[in-house]
Amino acid sequence: KKTPARTRRGKARAQPAPGALGIVILSRNEKLYSTRRLVEAALALGHAPRVLDTLRCNMVLGRDRPRILYRGEEVLATDVHVVVPRIGASITGYGLAVVNQFDLMGVPVLSNAIPIARSRDKLRALQLLSRFGIDIPRTVMCRYREEVLQSVEMVGGLPCIIKLIQGTQGVGVMIANTISEVEGLLDTLWTLGQEILLQELVAESRGKDVRALVVGDRVVAAMRRTARAGEFRSNIHRGGVAEALELDREYAETAVKAARVMGLEVAGVDMLEARTGPKIMEVNSSPGFEGLEAATGQDVARAYVAHAVEYAHARHSGYGGG
Ligand code: ADP
Ligand code: GLU
Repeated sequence: KKTPARTRRGKARAQPAPGALGIVILSRNEKLYSTRRLVEAALALGHAPRVLDTLRCNMVLGRDRPRILYRGEEVLATDVHVVVPRIGASITGYGLAVVNQFDLMGVPVLSNAIPIARSRDKLRALQLLSRFGIDIPRTVMCRYREEVLQSVEMVGGLPCIIKLIQGTQGVGVMIANTISEVEGLLDTLWTLGQEILLQELVAESRGKDVRALVVGDRVVAAMRRTARAGEFRSNIHRGGVAEALELDREYAETAVKAARVMGLEVAGVDMLEARTGPKIMEVNSSPGFEGLEAATGQDVARAYVAHAVEYAHARHSGYGGG
């Protein structure tokens, strides 16, 4: 799909229509599918989008008000009505600082630093979800070899799942079939300084999962991903295939609740279909939606931007506040 984002964006910025909002999309790369689609949707809705490379936002701090310089130019808080953060896992630290800087400047940010940080830490996310009564796969965190056997029993025995606390796209999710395999993997990972989780293998959903995209208080699109043969991880990046899915009410409600518990305005919620209903695996704060738009034909970008606009209006008209 071609997007003349640069020229159209330029035009939109030169002559913003009355009522048009300045929408900053924080993204490393304006050519990424989801970034391009957000720009398209913002233009289609009559707004003035601008993609800022997160790592090019220089934060200026001193006695006076906090500022951001972008490629040497001041980013004026008065020009930006809402920030849509698309912070990749590899730049979480810097990205969250930029998000906080906009927040300090009084600009509404669709999902603040704390919810994004929560979503990046799989253990923290699971702690919160379970605290609010959302079902998750049984999970144990331990740190000593002598505790492995008991921990494996607590997650329902073998085979079981081992996860790095910070992992994405299925990298860092492993399956272990024997105790010595578990011990070997854990020894290696601990030696490498990685924190890991042991998790129940939800066998009945093996090779499949559900991704729901939550925007505000509803699911705008959902799909079921099925792993390729011989693979238990259903990530698209791992060769999984996606099909559109009409979510059962229970699944939709669980997804929305999970996003709310995390404090995210937009979230990609990954669920396993267990015998007992949905079990949440993780909640992504900057969900890519290429696979989802392709599988469902839904205009996810439009819903995403429309929500950002609604959020901006609500924040500017009083409640909340930077
Ligand atoms: P990532 O964030 O790296 O995508 P996930 O935790 O979402 O990691 O796991 C990747 C994939 O592995 C999931 O999409 C799912 O197919 C599979 N998987 C993860 N956890 C479990 C589990 N507890 N039981 C069964 N399959 C799982
Ligand atoms: N990045 C996710 C994956 O690897 C989702 C892809 C998408 O929705 O575009 O499965």
